[in-house]
Amino acid sequence: MGTDGRFGGAVPPERQISAGFIRARELVEAIAACGRSAEFPDRGVSRLALTEPDRQARELTAKEMRELGMAVRTDACCNLWGVLGGVEKGPGVIIGSHLDSVPEGGDYDGVLGVAAGLGVVRDLLAGQPHPARTLAVVAFTAEESSRFSLATVGSKAAAGRLTPEDAERFRDARGVTLARALRDFGGRPEDLGKEPLSPKDWAAYFELHIEQGPVLDRTGDDVGIVEAIAAPTRFMLELEGVQAHSGACPMDLRHDALAAAAEVILAVEEAGRSEARHGSVATVGVCECHPGAMNVVPGRVVLKVDLRGIRSESVARMRGAVMAKAVSICGARGVACRLTPYSSDEPVAMDTGLTALVEDVCRERGVSHRRMPSGAGHDAMFVAERIPSALIFVPCKDGISHSPKERIEWSRVQAGYEVLREAVKRRLFP
Ligand SMILES: [Zn+2]
Repeated sequence: MGTDGRFGGAVPPERQISAGFIRARELVEAIAACGRSAEFPDRGVSRLALTEPDRQARELTAKEMRELGMAVRTDACCNLWGVLGGVEKGPGVIIGSHLDSVPEGGDYDGVLGVAAGLGVVRDLLAGQPHPARTLAVVAFTAEESSRFSLATVGSKAAAGRLTPEDAERFRDARGVTLARALRDFGGRPEDLGKEPLSPKDWAAYFELHIEQGPVLDRTGDDVGIVEAIAAPTRFMLELEGVQAHSGACPMDLRHDALAAAAEVILAVEEAGRSEARHGSVATVGVCECHPGAMNVVPGRVVLKVDLRGIRSESVARMRGAVMAKAVSICGARGVACRLTPYSSDEPVAMDTGLTALVEDVCRERGVSHRRMPSGAGHDAMFVAERIPSALIFVPCKDGISHSPKERIEWSRVQAGYEVLREAVKRRLFP
């Protein structure tokens, strides 16, 4: 196999395109055909977890793993592993992401990270056929919640956070349980939770992923170094006013729940804006107005609020600000306000040592980069519970993802790929 030099000629080393990178691109393009309709190719890929298109993508991935001399296996949760044993004792390195997609999704979400991992293996082997430490590439099962209403299934299992009971409880739209779907793919749902990843075996996990947001595309930076993955704090606000006739009830006697809600929505936005410098965001994504008739002053409104940040104090401040504002807005309008919490998860920090390593590599190679939060969840957040983890973002056009319009520029992704390869190399040959 060619090494960095093969396609380079007189091009300076940092501009050469490696065989691994070329192969990663070919693999992404091949997998993009799995789940794409011949009749409607512009509808993107529908490669839901543990379906036939997923099986095809796994086969292409496993074939590549075998070609690289990796031992291929699947675990209880059908996570697909390619493993190359190291010649020395000591914990190894994992590179991973996922192969499943949302319905009518894009070509790069998840797949890019798996293919880049295999490309890195190819490049590293060209220099040294036997890695000092064990090197693995993993494709986690069902990162998207689209099929089973449960996200990051495979990485949760790898972290020991998924039980056989969970697999029986979650079902797809046709009533098929996660357990049955796993079994049909050769999994062993009864063994879930038995063999979580151990820091004794693994020193580092690296995931390369498209950003799925617009920051890198806007700033022109080629690499995003994720410091932490935001976890949502979600709650419902029920505003109870007085339903009345829109013609007969004078303005000064109204207790309009929707007008109160309008002010509360702006207060949520304001809370997010005032914490934006910490990378936090605040959204009202649902507003249900009752009874919802043109000739009725709204009596009841339900708002659903989603607050996210990578700093718990910042999320707590937003929650406090929203509640204080909601109480005063509703008080002034004679509207009752009740909060029902849904979830409040802690943000997950990436490993500071690996983050610093990735940043050093960027600096040395002159790659434009920025530290940033991830607003979206990723497999890395569960792997990070067990072993040190790093998440590297590469730009996607206009920040569009979970859409057939998802696009990347390979020339920009190359920088992130090379940073991943160098960081892995330094952990693999310590
Ligand atoms: Zn993804």
